Amino acid sequence: MAQVFNFSAGPAMLPVEVLRQAQQELCDWQGLGTSVMEISHRGKEFIQVAETAERDLRDLMKIPDNYKVLFSHGGARAQFAAIPLNLLGDATQADYIDGGYWAHSAIQEAEKYCKPNVFDAKTQIDGLSAIKPMKDWVLSDKSAYVHFCPNETIDGVAIDEQPDFGDRVVIADLSSTILSRPIDVSRYGVIYAGAQKNIGPAGITVIIIREDLLGKARKETPSILDFTVLNKYDSMFNTPPTFAWYLSGLVFKWLKAQGGLTEMARRNEEKASHLYSFIDNSDFYRNGVAIPNRSWMNVPFQLGDGTLDKVFLEEAQVAGLHALKGHRVLGGMRASIYNAMPLAGVQALTQFMADFERRHG
Ligand code: PMP
Repeated sequence: MAQVFNFSAGPAMLPVEVLRQAQQELCDWQGLGTSVMEISHRGKEFIQVAETAERDLRDLMKIPDNYKVLFSHGGARAQFAAIPLNLLGDATQADYIDGGYWAHSAIQEAEKYCKPNVFDAKTQIDGLSAIKPMKDWVLSDKSAYVHFCPNETIDGVAIDEQPDFGDRVVIADLSSTILSRPIDVSRYGVIYAGAQKNIGPAGITVIIIREDLLGKARKETPSILDFTVLNKYDSMFNTPPTFAWYLSGLVFKWLKAQGGLTEMARRNEEKASHLYSFIDNSDFYRNGVAIPNRSWMNVPFQLGDGTLDKVFLEEAQVAGLHALKGHRVLGGMRASIYNAMPLAGVQALTQFMADFERRHG
């Protein structure tokens, strides 16, 4: 089969080495004569998978000891509810930074539980989408926490500044940028991320929480969303998504073998610069995001002539460049270039784009 590069925003491409390993050990995992999907999550074999995955994630992200790592169901959207339920305490208000589609979705969910104090961080620089700098964010002293989304998967807009808000509890939805580069975990109260971009298959969510923030859940919080309960049961209050957990563990091992997050940052920077500089040097393609806020992970781009979108996608598919259609709310194209996407995939894309421009420009 010809090589395919999958630019899907999520569920996204996984490292082929990981898929091969999973394939090889699928029917007989660790000599048990059964797959990892078919064993008890409470048995010593699976407990070891869970513990190793946590340890490797801790190593990769240099997670301080006073943080707990939880693995949960429900995707990032479940966290849009879990965050206010677990962290509001007696407060009725929380700061929400609106930087794009996903931050806005978190706000809509939070409205069920509190009064979000919304700061619209979206702005324009020379007609391009941008985000106001953190020093200009207006926060309230009555808020229990401040929530933001550092990488807007649909808009292709990133906030790369590291938060520095003193004693405020900072919550970040890292779904589409976790593990793409090193970050300073100690600046955050809670980090959460759905797995299906940079961690593993859909179905599992990682939550990294500073331990003094546990124990504050509202009494009506469903137990399955209660961080204190999840922590007490080592993320096994109910049956966890064991296969997704196992596969995520393989991805963590793969990341370590590649050189960890410093190496991922180097590669991701290289891939993103290659694609953006190609787009910037062309009059045929356009990216609408201001340079300081361009995402390394999700690169939306438009063709000068939108009537060519359909043929672009059809020809790209034939060339083995899949899932480039932009999100329905934005249109155009989007190339998601997470950790598992090699530079060769991005180069194949720009070669195709150059060729397409020659033929249709
Ligand atoms: N936040 C961000 C930044 C996302 O990209 C997504 C999914 N694309 C979500 C939240 C929602 O994630 P899930 O589908 O896992 O609930």
